[in-house]
Amino acid sequence: MSSQARASLAARLRDAGQRVTPQRMLILSALTPGAHLSADEVYARIEGSLLAVNRSTVYRTLERFRDLGLVSETDLGGGVREYELLEDGRHHHLICIDCGGMLELADSLVHPLREAILSRHGFAARIEHLAVFGCCAKCQVRVPKGMVSGSTSPL
Ligand SMILES: [Zn+2]
Ligand SMILES: [Zn+2]
Repeated sequence: MSSQARASLAARLRDAGQRVTPQRMLILSALTPGAHLSADEVYARIEGSLLAVNRSTVYRTLERFRDLGLVSETDLGGGVREYELLEDGRHHHLICIDCGGMLELADSLVHPLREAILSRHGFAARIEHLAVFGCCAKCQVRVPKGMVSGSTSPL
């Protein structure tokens, strides 16, 4: 990680009212925008470093970063919470429950929802990293699984 990237991470910690500690910097810099990592994967990335950071510290720190809006926490269908460093260009995901494929969803499509929630409920929704489950275009053209066997009636 470049010194410039480190400096901007440190600034984000300070802006969030957090002390910049070596442990926090280590955990933050183990995260990458565009990569989804579980807490265990984050721990594995920093395990060999000289700083003593135990697994529960990694878990607690990631949860704090989530509360501060520095990272997103999303279950992308694997039953594991995955963390990603949030940057200005927010993104969301469309996840196919059939093939497991994942598409990126632009925030411009999600933003009207945020505004509608605010105007109707006065609620400032924090939609940072949305996982929408469904069926991708490719899988929709395939014959639905349940129809192949056990059903003799025509579609
Ligand atoms: Zn993502
Ligand atoms: Zn699919």
